[in-house]
Amino acid sequence: MNLMLMGLPGAGKGTQAEKIVDKYHIIHVSTGDMFREAMANKTAVGLKAKAFMDQGELVPDEVTNQIVQERLAQDDISQSGYMLDGFPRNLAQAKALDEINAQLNKKLDAVINIDVDPKLLVERLSGRFICRNCGATYHKLYNPPKVEGTCDRCGGHEFYQREDDQPQTVKNRLDVNIKMNTPLIDYYQNAGILKQVDGAQEIDQVFAQIDLFLRKIN
Ligand SMILES: [Zn+2]
Repeated sequence: MNLMLMGLPGAGKGTQAEKIVDKYHIIHVSTGDMFREAMANKTAVGLKAKAFMDQGELVPDEVTNQIVQERLAQDDISQSGYMLDGFPRNLAQAKALDEINAQLNKKLDAVINIDVDPKLLVERLSGRFICRNCGATYHKLYNPPKVEGTCDRCGGHEFYQREDDQPQTVKNRLDVNIKMNTPLIDYYQNAGILKQVDGAQEIDQVFAQIDLFLRKIN
């Protein structure tokens, strides 16, 4: 079984990826890991990618595609199947993946998108705040102070948010990702292999939905 996993930041992709791998024993292939491996093994494309990164430049699609091709050709994946994470990121890469699969005599069986309303993601991702006096961190949803407005540790009443955690910053980051993901979701919807999963539920419920679907196609 070969999968690709999608989801906006905060949608719980990492958690669900672990659960899928545990149960189905397919190989989690993240873009970061593929690059690190190719560079550590000093493969020709790994060195090419490194040259771009050392210059502070983006690695071109062509090089990324080659790294993916090399990884998907390896024996462990032929035996177990793969779950891509972070690739493809755009339509050109999605089409390249189709070609890679055709060359390797594989096919992408399903694309799972963990779908969460961006408004909820802003709440999840922008909830962190910090006590100005002692630096204790809290989260509005997951870890609020025992008494609202009072730091558990020092009794302080002044809090602040890091720039990265502020709602507008989070919203901008999500918008960039939504713009990137939308054409891919359309592409795989048209290909008939997209599975939308409601990611607003509890972690175990989200996985139950994914599991039910995977049992059908596996
Ligand atoms: Zn404090």
